[in-house]
This record gives sequence, C-alpha cells and structure tokens, in this order.
Amino acid sequence: MMGRTHMLFGFLVGLFAIQALHPSNQILFIFLVVLGALLPDIDHPDSKIGSKVRIVGALFEHRGFFHSLFAVALFVIPFWIFTSRIYAYAILIGVLSHLLADMISHMGIMPFAPISRFKLRGFIKTNSIGENIILVVVFLLSIWKLVSL
Ligand SMILES: [Zn+2]
Repeated sequence: MMGRTHMLFGFLVGLFAIQALHPSNQILFIFLVVLGALLPDIDHPDSKIGSKVRIVGALFEHRGFFHSLFAVALFVIPFWIFTSRIYAYAILIGVLSHLLADMISHMGIMPFAPISRFKLRGFIKTNSIGENIILVVVFLLSIWKLVSL
C-alpha cells in the first residue's frame, strides 16, 4: 500500500480510537497514530520514513521483519517505557493499521518473520484502481467521522 493510504487509514482508525480511549491530547494522539501507520515501511528505501534511513531498507527485506508482530513490539515498547501509556496505544494502533492494510494487499505480510515465512495476503495490488478506490472510501469515511466526533 502507498504511504498516503497508510496515513489516511491510520488517521481514520485514530479518530475511532480517540472516541474509545479519550486521550487528553487528541492532536498528539492522532499524530502518533499516523506516525505508527508509517513506521513499518522503514524497510522500504523509497517510503516516507525509509528514505530517511536507507540503511534499514538495505539490510532488511521489505515486508519482512519490520512488518511482523515482533516489530510491533519493537516500535511500541519504547513508547510504553518512556511516555504515557496512551501514546504507546497510539503507536500500537497505527502500526497495526499498517499491517492490516498491507495484509489485504497482493504482496501480503509475514506476521512471524523472520521465524516463519507464513503469509497473510489479499488481492489488492499496490497503487492499483482497487487501492485508489479504498483510498477514496477511507477519505470519505474520515470526513464523515471528523464532522460527527
Ligand atoms: Zn508496508
């Protein structure tokens, strides 16, 4: 999935999470959810985050370890230790939204990489008409959610 799809899907999921978790700083919360939604693509040298740290993309397989449940823990634990728990939840929700979105893509993800190459995958091709339809639907749902909060 493309960076903008992940950002917008993270944003939408974050809006629902705000309603459920009532964070005191909603702006920071949604920012961290969207950040979390971008983090797994650190393993892709041309992604928004991966282009800042190309070494990660050079060393790790795209949609390998950094798209696994182990990486979820790696991303969340520092926030769990060093910030308020609510912000660790924000990162968790963002990263999980990323994995969920990639899971419906044709390339899929390997939730237990590098231990197992077991794959969860769907049929949506990256930057295809299918993804762009999803992008528009997520955008419209975000607007609806934003005005109904
Ligand atoms: Zn990804």
